[in-house]
Amino acid sequence: MHIKSLTLRGFKSFASATECSFSPAINVIVGPNGSGKSNIVDALAWVMGQQGAKSLRGEKMQDVVFAGTSTHAALGRAKVTLTLDNSEGLLGIPSEEVTIERTMFRSGGSEYALNGQAVRLSDIQDLLADAGVAQEDHALVRQGRVDEILTANAEQRRDILEEAFGIHRFRQRASKSERKLES
Ligand code: ATP
Ligand code: MG
Repeated sequence: MHIKSLTLRGFKSFASATECSFSPAINVIVGPNGSGKSNIVDALAWVMGQQGAKSLRGEKMQDVVFAGTSTHAALGRAKVTLTLDNSEGLLGIPSEEVTIERTMFRSGGSEYALNGQAVRLSDIQDLLADAGVAQEDHALVRQGRVDEILTANAEQRRDILEEAFGIHRFRQRASKSERKLES
């Protein structure tokens, strides 16, 4: 499975429709500071269902909608379309190509679509998690995260490794049960 394309419309600094095409190999996005490279990565996290405004480097969720510049008026909605190659069938739906789309209006609230059909956020989350692509994992390593790992102490580093190995959840569940037994 690989990303075929990502199209941004009214998302952050991308006022007009901008399509980024990706190859199955390594892809590199280059550009001057402030040109929108991280906004493209934000769009990828956002279309996959990211819920935290802070994780998207904003104050509130609506901050992803193009806010306007001296030459362009602000827009009323942001829309991102992700097209994935599913020729290996890793995503549990029988189509060679899968599109996931998220729309948000300035008034708030998100709409999701899977291959053009309206779906719930949980449908997108389940689809991706079943294919091993989960938000909380390490599919996206953000700016600053590498420093965080390098400067972590032993305990923090163990936390990072446990999360990567997928045992973090089980430890959380175990301590929840322990607390229940104690009370
Ligand atoms: P660097 O190389 O410094 O990491 P970058 O290419 O990653 O830069 P981004 O952080 O993606 O740059 O883009 C920042 C730009 O996006 C800023 O100029 C900011 O004003 C603009 N921007 C962010 N959100 C919005 C929005 N909602 N509407 C319009 N512009 C926005
Ligand atoms: Mg950046």
